[in-house]
Amino acid sequence: MAVGYWPSAVGKRGGGREPTTEGRELFLAHLYQNMSYRITLIPGDGIGPEVTDATVRILEATGVRFEWERCNAGQEAYEKYGEYLPKDLLDSIERTRVALKGPVTTPIGGGFSSINVALRKHFELYANFRPIRNLPHIPTRYPDVDLIIVRENTEGLYSGIEHEVVPGVVESLKIITEKACLRIARFAFEYARKNKRKKIHTIHKANIMKLSDGLFLRCSRAVSKEYPEITYGEHIVDNTCMQLVMNPYQYDMLLLENLYGDIISDLCAAFVGGLGLVPGANLGDNAAVFEAVHGSAPDIAGKNIANPTAVLRSSLLMLRHLGEHDAAWKIRTALEKVYRQRDKLTRDVGGKAGTSQFADSVIEAMQSEPVPEPARA
Ligand code: NAD
Repeated sequence: MAVGYWPSAVGKRGGGREPTTEGRELFLAHLYQNMSYRITLIPGDGIGPEVTDATVRILEATGVRFEWERCNAGQEAYEKYGEYLPKDLLDSIERTRVALKGPVTTPIGGGFSSINVALRKHFELYANFRPIRNLPHIPTRYPDVDLIIVRENTEGLYSGIEHEVVPGVVESLKIITEKACLRIARFAFEYARKNKRKKIHTIHKANIMKLSDGLFLRCSRAVSKEYPEITYGEHIVDNTCMQLVMNPYQYDMLLLENLYGDIISDLCAAFVGGLGLVPGANLGDNAAVFEAVHGSAPDIAGKNIANPTAVLRSSLLMLRHLGEHDAAWKIRTALEKVYRQRDKLTRDVGGKAGTSQFADSVIEAMQSEPVPEPARA
């Protein structure tokens, strides 16, 4: 099933084009066929430039035209502009409303605050959407996983409000608001309804954090009542880790607050072959930023061995968001072909190819006769 059909509240299309209504779609498609999409491109650091470069080459080979507004973020931006999240970058997303982003390193235990978190907060990208699906011929413990993770993206322990009370005692505030809980629950249930998903589990620790996780839970319950066709369940987060590892098929969609969503996403990435494969989208009502689940992987940066599949799959979510379904399908079938053939894969999934060789293979596979996409839900 194709993904990328967000609830209607989310994601005016952007890409330098105005949102369209169904009736005007064909007319506008004709009108726009010679225009390009304006997209903010944040290569990031670590493996970011390598995997985004591979992805951009593949996207451009589809024939869809893009005008990339390249912007730095993080340490690199600071060295150039004296700002970690430069105004130019924010202005660019303000204009394009769509960004494709590589990972950005966040210093551990000190230094500047996360650029990723700041970007999500600045544009109120409240829904972090992460589909977990296998690719063909990657041996994993669990075949045919099809799990959707919906993570609240703007608050919780990521609010970044920490201080030292007295030397030796620090406090970190977990902010949970009814507004954000209802908004993310509504996103998850609307997505489920629109894409015919069957079940949503809210994951929490309300036995301990009775007020904060309790509010998240109460809001999920309230919203679930409006969607009787979707089975609703609740699991405590520690139990969920065990349940997932024992039997991931018992879940269909997981709805989580910020920190739990981050941790569970990496756990679930292991079901389908690792972090090099899992895509993501950060969605708000006025902008969308597409990026992989993985980080900047400093251990393999600059060696041309990183797997660009996760960023490429994130770019497929972007193409769906833009309404470019044919191009998304074309890349997806080419990608699956390369995975089926196995001889041009990167090291993390058992191959020997480099990042750029892998991209060349996907581009080559795109030249073969396209298979029509099955009817979308
Ligand atoms: P990581 O995701 O960068 O790496 C974890 C492991 O997965 C490493 O062994 C790495 O080599 C491997 N890996 C990750 N992506 C891969 C790929 N595409 N191909 C092959 N192997 C891949 O996590 P980390 O090491 O905990 O974090 C490194 C930095 O990234 C930190 O500064 C962290 O804050 C940052 N980070 C950024 C984002 C983001 O920009 N959205 C997300 C997560 C972490």
